[in-house]
Amino acid sequence: MYPLLRHDEQRSLWIDETRSTLGTFAAEHRAELDQANRDNVFPRELYREVGALGYLGPIVPTEWGGLGGGVPEYAVISEEVGRHGLVSGQIAVQGERWLLDWGTQEQKEQWLRGIATGEVVFSESISEKNAGSSFKTMKSSAVRDGSDWIINGAKTHVNLGADCDVTLVYAVAEEGLTSFLVDMSLDGIRTAVTNPVGLRLIRTADVYFDDVRVPESALLGAPGEGLETFLSTFNISRLGNASELIGLGRRAMHLALEYAVDRQVGDNVVTDFQGIQWMIADNWSNLSAASMARDHAALMHLQGNDIALETSLAKRLSIDAAEEASSVAYSMVGGHGLYFDQPYADILNDIKVLKVAGGSSEILRNYIARRILKDPQREGVS
Ligand SMILES: Cc1cc2nc3c(=O)[nH]c(=O)nc-3n(C[C@H](O)[C@H](O)[C@H](O)COP(=O)(O)OP(=O)(O)OC[C@H]3O[C@@H](n4cnc5c(N)ncnc54)[C@H](O)[C@@H]3O)c2cc1C
Repeated sequence: MYPLLRHDEQRSLWIDETRSTLGTFAAEHRAELDQANRDNVFPRELYREVGALGYLGPIVPTEWGGLGGGVPEYAVISEEVGRHGLVSGQIAVQGERWLLDWGTQEQKEQWLRGIATGEVVFSESISEKNAGSSFKTMKSSAVRDGSDWIINGAKTHVNLGADCDVTLVYAVAEEGLTSFLVDMSLDGIRTAVTNPVGLRLIRTADVYFDDVRVPESALLGAPGEGLETFLSTFNISRLGNASELIGLGRRAMHLALEYAVDRQVGDNVVTDFQGIQWMIADNWSNLSAASMARDHAALMHLQGNDIALETSLAKRLSIDAAEEASSVAYSMVGGHGLYFDQPYADILNDIKVLKVAGGSSEILRNYIARRILKDPQREGVS
C-alpha cells in the first residue's frame, strides 16, 4: 500500500519504520486494547505512550512537540492505526490543525504541545441531537457578557467528550457560527458517557454547557467565522478518515486471509476456490484505488493545492473498499468469524462509524456531484 507516497525514498523508509513500530506496539498491548474496546473505556495511558512515540502530532512542527510532517505522514499513521486496531489520534490531529490554522500564540502555548504529545486530550463538540449533517438547526448559543462569553448548549456524539481536557465548541453567536476552545475544568460543564458500536477506544459522550463563562481569549477565529474554521480542518481530516478506513479494510483482509489459506474445506482450502479468489482480487483492487486517491490528495496538499474534491473522492472510495473488505472477510472466514471474540464485528462497526462521522458518504457524494455540475468541463469528464 502507499503506492504514490513511496516514490520518495526517505518517506518510504519512514513508512516501513512506522509500520513496524506501530505493529509491534499493537501486538504488545493487544489484550489491553481489546479489553478497553469491550469495556468502552479510553485507554489514556496507551494513548500517552503512542504520543511519546511521536505519532499523535504528525502535522505539528517539532518546536511544538510534533513530528514536523505533513498530510502524507498523517495519512500513514492513520492507516496503520486502522490496520492494527490502535487508539485513533484523529481527534488530536483535528485539534492540531485548528490550532495551527487559527490559534493565537497564547492558545498554542496552552494546548498545542500537550495535544501533540498526548498529555492533553482534545475533543470537538459540534453535533447536537437535532444538528448533524447541517448546522442550520444548531441551538447552542454564545452571548457576550462584558469581555466574556456565556455558552449554553447540549452536544452529542462527542468522541472523548468525557475524557478530554479541552473541547472545541461550535455555537451560534449574534455574528453567526462561532468556535471556542473551552477548558473542561470550567464551571457549568457536565458529561455523560454514551455507548457507540464502533471506535470505542475513543468513546463518545454527551456534553452539556450550562451558562459556561469563557474569556474572549477562548475564541478560535473571529465571531461568525465558524464555517471557515470548520472547513479548514475537515478537508484534511477526511483524509485521515479515508486512511483509517483503508487500514481497517487491510486488517479485515489480512486476518481473514491468514485463516482462509489454511482452512480445509473438503479437499481444498478456502483460498483455492475461484469465487473466493475473485473477491480477493476485486477488494485488493479497490483498496489499492482508494490508496492511490488518498496518496494523490496528500501529495497535492503538500504542493499547496486546495484538495476538497480529492479528499471527498478518497474518503468515498475508502468507505466502499473498507465495507467490501469486511464483507469479503466474512465470506472467507464463514461461521467462525461471526462471534464477538473474533475481531470482524469490531472492524465492521468501526467502518460504519467512519462512514457517517466526519462527513458521511451521502454528504461526500453531494459535494462531488456539486463540483461536477458547476464546472463547465465537468471535472474532466467533458
Ligand atoms: C461514533 C460517532 C462519533 C462521532 N464523533 C463526533 C465528534 O467527536 N464530535 C461531533 O461533533 N460529532 C461527532 N459525530 C457526529 C457525526 O458527525 C454526525 O453523526 C454526522 O455529522 C451525521 O449527522 P447525524 O448523525 O445527525 O445524521 P443526520 O444529519 O440526521 O442525517 C441522517 C442521514 O441522512 C443523510 N443525509 C443528511 N443530509 C443529506 C443530504 N443532503 N443528502 C443525502 N443524504 C443526507 C446522512 O448522511 C445520514 O446518513 C459522531 C458520530 C458518531 C456516530
